[in-house]
Amino acid sequence: MDSTANKKLHPTNYQLQTRRLSKDNRLCFFGPEICCNQKKRKVNYPSIIDEIYQTIKQIKDRGKVAAYIPELANIDPQNFGIHLSTIDHQGFGIGDAQHPFSIQSIAKVLSLSLAYKILGESIWERVGVEPSGTAFNSLIQLEADHGIPRNPFINSGALVICDILLSHLENPKADFLTFIRTISDNPNLGFSKKIVDSEKSVGYRNIALCHFIKSFDNIKNDPIAVLDFYFNMCSLEMNCQELSKTFLFLANQGCKLSDQQKILTPSQSKRINALMQTCGFYDESGEFAFKVGLPGKSGVGGGIIAVHPNQYTIAVWSPKLNPRGNSYRGMRFLEAFTTRTESSIC
Ligand code: GLN
Repeated sequence: MDSTANKKLHPTNYQLQTRRLSKDNRLCFFGPEICCNQKKRKVNYPSIIDEIYQTIKQIKDRGKVAAYIPELANIDPQNFGIHLSTIDHQGFGIGDAQHPFSIQSIAKVLSLSLAYKILGESIWERVGVEPSGTAFNSLIQLEADHGIPRNPFINSGALVICDILLSHLENPKADFLTFIRTISDNPNLGFSKKIVDSEKSVGYRNIALCHFIKSFDNIKNDPIAVLDFYFNMCSLEMNCQELSKTFLFLANQGCKLSDQQKILTPSQSKRINALMQTCGFYDESGEFAFKVGLPGKSGVGGGIIAVHPNQYTIAVWSPKLNPRGNSYRGMRFLEAFTTRTESSIC
């Protein structure tokens, strides 16, 4: 049966096979499955985004706004925006896509990109590349791991990356901002002093993390300076359109889309995407990979960026978070989006 079936299922014979196969229930099962893989579909992203957006807006938002940073609790929890940017220069936004918000931990991908660009592979001597399976602000593994954070996206790892940048940049905050403005082609992007002050006023865990890592000699600078840089980095504000455009270099093999300027090598870009895929959602990274199937990164401001290498980036913002600190609606939206467009990498 195998050889006959293979011959019949050759794509050039498809019309003929369908007719013949439909008489036989068993063989009929194989026809559409094989042809499905081979057909090229033109996806109407705007109409799919619009449709999913309207559906998700109707369902009850079960999340809670991150109140542990007082200033974040002042955001209107009903905000909901999406923006898609493709590497063939298309863009589509809906809802509150133009409303700026605090990107929080999403900025950790950008600080990592800059540190990786400056130092190359030696950064992996200071921070690991394994999922932690713990919350973003957990201290628990650091003792056993002798102050080497599991990955650059948990707070401990991001603090080490900030320390690296502090050692290599002349004016760390200003130089980091210049890097962000360059990759985004947007001179207006900036930190939010209100968010910085608010986070500093309650930053006990991050302060503990930074001093603890210092005790293992994996923080080289004054912890107060490292924390100041970290809180500023997390306070970066962007809207969904700006966020999706900023991340396009990771969908474009490390090159800025507008002028093809090299930000990272293709190999470095691949590795950052791999880290987003495996560590971007803390102890929910497996779930995000399982349901969405794209490299991504979340922030407690309610934003999520997802990257489809060689195709697009998509930013979603909805402030209410699930118990693991990731946007409730954002996760739901992206799951439906990659399912409907059949455009995940998994
Ligand atoms: N600034 C936040 C913190 O350190 C970032 C956490 C996040 O976005 N997951 O707690």
